[in-house]
Amino acid sequence: MKGEGKGRTEEWIRERLQKDKEEGVYRTLPDPLPLGTVDLRSNDHLGLFEDPTLRERIQQALREEPLSGSTGSRLISGNSKLHLDLEEEMAAHYRAGTGLLFSTGYQANVGLLSALGERGNSLIYDEKVHASMRDGIRSALARAHSFRHNDPIDLEKKLQRAQGPTFILIEGLYSMDGDRAPLHPILELAERHQASIVLDEAHSNGVLGEKGRGEAARQGVEERIFARVMPFGKAVCQQGAFVTGPQLLKELLIGHARSFIFSTAPSFPALVALRESFRYAMEADARREALFEKVERFRYRAQQEGIALFEDADGPIQGVQVPGAEAAKRLEELLWEKGFAVKAVRKPTVPEGKERIRIVIHADTSNEAIDELVRILKQAL
Ligand code: PMP
Repeated sequence: MKGEGKGRTEEWIRERLQKDKEEGVYRTLPDPLPLGTVDLRSNDHLGLFEDPTLRERIQQALREEPLSGSTGSRLISGNSKLHLDLEEEMAAHYRAGTGLLFSTGYQANVGLLSALGERGNSLIYDEKVHASMRDGIRSALARAHSFRHNDPIDLEKKLQRAQGPTFILIEGLYSMDGDRAPLHPILELAERHQASIVLDEAHSNGVLGEKGRGEAARQGVEERIFARVMPFGKAVCQQGAFVTGPQLLKELLIGHARSFIFSTAPSFPALVALRESFRYAMEADARREALFEKVERFRYRAQQEGIALFEDADGPIQGVQVPGAEAAKRLEELLWEKGFAVKAVRKPTVPEGKERIRIVIHADTSNEAIDELVRILKQAL
């Protein structure tokens, strides 16, 4: 019986994976980056990953921090002065009432939306929000409706049908198309319909706004956004995410965000590294300036060569549309051979017909690399 059960399980897994292969969505881990390869696939927007000063600061801070691990969930044994102090520092930085630190952005979105999405409430989300928000929506009992990407007219239609406490879910800088949410019209609608905005700033945190406070800060509307999710896995180059909001939201999350309640608190080394990287990234004005110079150079050079870019992508996330999944994969491989790591983005991440090469420009991408990249793209397309 045991053997039969195992056979059945394996057969099912094999069939499942075969189906993925037939549909072209079978995933494998990419090769680690060889030394000397130009990294245009990670979200290390400010180029902090290999920064020697940051490394030194983290090492020094770790030497001063006597604790080495994590003992449990914040609600049981894992809470510490280090967690509380960092939350206070982050709330002050983001000019937020309060906030709660999660171990990852994924957990933050899932926990936040499962807590806000009680039965009787409504979640109205931009069709391009990240998978972590979608998983939060799936775990919620609230009614959920999507609206067309960055389309306030469609959003209004959905708001008219919403019932109960209503939340609008959007991103500051979209992770695939690299464009930004039209915050002002969305805010106006939210206020007219008494809805609250949840803004995921994964890619804008550390990149946009004064001291990297994000897109809402850049537009001077932080105080009108109910909750901002500030993941640290991109420009800040660490793990964790801070959810800003009023004290009441914090209390709700502590009581209802299951990804917070039932998960081990971030460990001391992780927290120390996060604190040092957070401070370093928020002070890194010169890097933000360099990043936007590099982005402009790439866009200018590509447009000079007639390479079609995503029109509204004026930040670090750039995309070059490629005709079909096969062509996208081939171009990724060609660039890899030439020393550039980029990501071919295909179904299911983007719909069929929207395949692209995703190019993430970093603050420390060299001008020579940008020019060479454009030359190769021009030849290949
Ligand atoms: N939101 C967005 C928009 C993201 O791009 C990501 C990461 N890909 C996340 C949330 C999840 O954050 P984390 O990687 O910290 O789990």
